[in-house]
Amino acid sequence: MPIETDILDASDPTQIEQAAALLRQGELVAFPTETVYGLGANGTSAEAVAKIFAAKGRPADNPLILHVGSIEQALPLWQASSLQTQRARTLAAAHWPGALSLVLPAAKFIPTEVTAGLDSVAIRAPAHPIAQALLQQCEFPLAAPSANLSGRPSPTTASHVQKTLGGRITAILDGGPTSVGIESTVLDLRPEQPRILRHGGISASSIEQVIGSLNKLESPADAASPGLRHHHYQPIGIKVELLGAESISDLWDSDSGIACWTELASKLGTRNAPLWVMPDTAAEYAAALYKTLYQIEESGVVKVLVELPPETGEWAAILDRLRRAASSEG
Ligand code: AMP
Ligand code: MG
Repeated sequence: MPIETDILDASDPTQIEQAAALLRQGELVAFPTETVYGLGANGTSAEAVAKIFAAKGRPADNPLILHVGSIEQALPLWQASSLQTQRARTLAAAHWPGALSLVLPAAKFIPTEVTAGLDSVAIRAPAHPIAQALLQQCEFPLAAPSANLSGRPSPTTASHVQKTLGGRITAILDGGPTSVGIESTVLDLRPEQPRILRHGGISASSIEQVIGSLNKLESPADAASPGLRHHHYQPIGIKVELLGAESISDLWDSDSGIACWTELASKLGTRNAPLWVMPDTAAEYAAALYKTLYQIEESGVVKVLVELPPETGEWAAILDRLRRAASSEG
């Protein structure tokens, strides 16, 4: 049975209070963070958290990130050694509030629904003022994955949330488009040498500037971060192919959509099929990425050729999302 999803206006403080009241009652409320919109629930209530999995169709083995106001609120949710606590404090001082989720051993009272049965929990403090205002009014951490049906591109506007979760959640707190545009970086702080489980809004090099070199081994991370095993970011019914500029030029007269940078776009000139000109910098590209995936979905093309970004650290999170949008594996 679909339910009516209320749209709350975050520019009105009483509507933020209303969102907090709904969360206190154990309801699901989508809210803006600086990365993407999150689907919030009381992170200390197994019952409320279970609703997130039902509404998103999220696989039960994919753990959730807890959102808090500050490092002081995060520390009691972990059972960390003094070295781990010190590293978490140092990273939080440099990057919180911000797009960095830290994984450490979970305190015993964290519901297994949040951790998906793992003995660790990922926590971050979001920088968005509306997320911070909401957290201040809730006396609990908010469990909040991206506010989209599982497998779909993440939402960077309230209308993206409405598109896939409308009728499935109690309310959406509309605070306009998000600024970072891709999810947080997930960093495992348990090993002696920490490692990134998922690339995101904070780059590896800006973490290394704070705590020294990270373990760059890629393969074991898949097992450690269950979310990476699942389908993600895929526009429905569209084949996404990642190609270099030359291969795309060779196919310019095909009826595929193309998403590329200005240089290739001007070479290609006018075409019958749609062309999306992507921003030059990684930060602006990230902010535009999911919106573009939704536009591609609405354009009616059956295939889109996406110009391959450079294989450098600052593009790592974008490359990861594009590769997974292009993957046909489950
Ligand atoms: P989402 O909230 O949908 O953006 O996804 C959260 C990501 O964080 C997924 O890739 C999860 O696998 C990862 N994650 C959350 N909690 C943990 C944890 N305790 N250990 C490892 N990865 C985690
Ligand atoms: Mg997600």
